Amino acid sequence: MRGVKKIAVIPGDGIGPEIMNEAVKVLRQVEQKFGYSFEFQFAMAGGGAIDQVGVPLPEETLSLCKSADAVLLGAVGGPKWDHNPPELRPEKALLGLRKELGLYANLRPVTLFDGMEDRSTLRPEVIAGVDLIVVRELTGGIYFGEKKRTKTEEGEIASDLLIYHEYEIERIVRLSFEMAMKRKKKLTSVDKANVLESSRLWRSVVERVAEEYPEVTVSHMLVDNCAMQIVRRPADFDVIVTENMFGDILSDEAAVITGSIGMLPSASLGQGNSGLYEPIHGSAPDIAGQKIANPSAMILSAAMLLRYSFDDEEAAQAVEKAVKAVIKAGHCTPDLAASGQKAVSTEEFGDLVAEQI
Ligand code: ATP
Ligand code: MG
Repeated sequence: MRGVKKIAVIPGDGIGPEIMNEAVKVLRQVEQKFGYSFEFQFAMAGGGAIDQVGVPLPEETLSLCKSADAVLLGAVGGPKWDHNPPELRPEKALLGLRKELGLYANLRPVTLFDGMEDRSTLRPEVIAGVDLIVVRELTGGIYFGEKKRTKTEEGEIASDLLIYHEYEIERIVRLSFEMAMKRKKKLTSVDKANVLESSRLWRSVVERVAEEYPEVTVSHMLVDNCAMQIVRRPADFDVIVTENMFGDILSDEAAVITGSIGMLPSASLGQGNSGLYEPIHGSAPDIAGQKIANPSAMILSAAMLLRYSFDDEEAAQAVEKAVKAVIKAGHCTPDLAASGQKAVSTEEFGDLVAEQI
């Protein structure tokens, strides 16, 4: 018996509710199979919340997320709210949740599934065996430093301050070493230490923490080189840790390895065990309501929830294996279907995964 767990569920906008149905379906199967008692608590955030209660992140949703053991999020946003003023943008809900839950690490695993080798734009022999994870720092860096704009006689000047505190670097570096210990014990720290002072601090923190993890092979890579190596020899990477903006760019780049954006899950973790789990894709308004969305990223996000918030590697792998098996057996949604291959619906795909478990 693995006990009672409270999961806050935010389906969100666009395809969010469709793919969330399938993730919850799969979790209900996990509940039975592994002896959990899950309490799913549904809440709203994003565009739907703006329409119904006038704010992207209602107080009620926030307190529910704070008291839950983990948060599962579909996707927020859509063209309907694109012209809203900044404080009434659906994306505000995400930023608010990250901040209020103290989430500082964004994890994006990139794994190549059997039978998917030909769906990527990269050559099969380049992507064979890829199983890496990008760990992106979420709270610091150039996104949050002081921003300024000054008018001068020679024209305007704009600046964004790239600032990092040692403690911010240390906590994400530690998390990455811990993760490397559970994987292939290989850590690549990415920076731009040849030009940035913040990167030189980053590098020295990595060196210091590395002494506590003698089993982990650490290497430092400049971000420009990494941008090339990640598509040149992606199978050589295990854990990649990097600051906020580098991580943003590298994780999108790494996403091309697997072929469809509908395959990629993510986790955002903080101090406690609680975390936020969501697909890397958006609300895909262009295909909402058509029953064709690929629920894999959402289901795989639920697997990450089991791994990181419930510390349950066995159940997490059961979910991942089920998704792999269904795809290997030749079932997939239209985004993954090879030409001439018959595709299944969002719901059928979820049923197949649940059955596998
Ligand atoms: P955001 O700004 O929230 O990142 P976006 O407009 O950049 O959103 P997405 O919503 O991620 O992008 O959609 C990008 C493209 O990928 C769209 O054509 C969409 O239909 C497709 N897509 C996204 N997620 C899925 C999915 N789960 N299954 C199938 N197709 C998807
Ligand atoms: Mg996008």
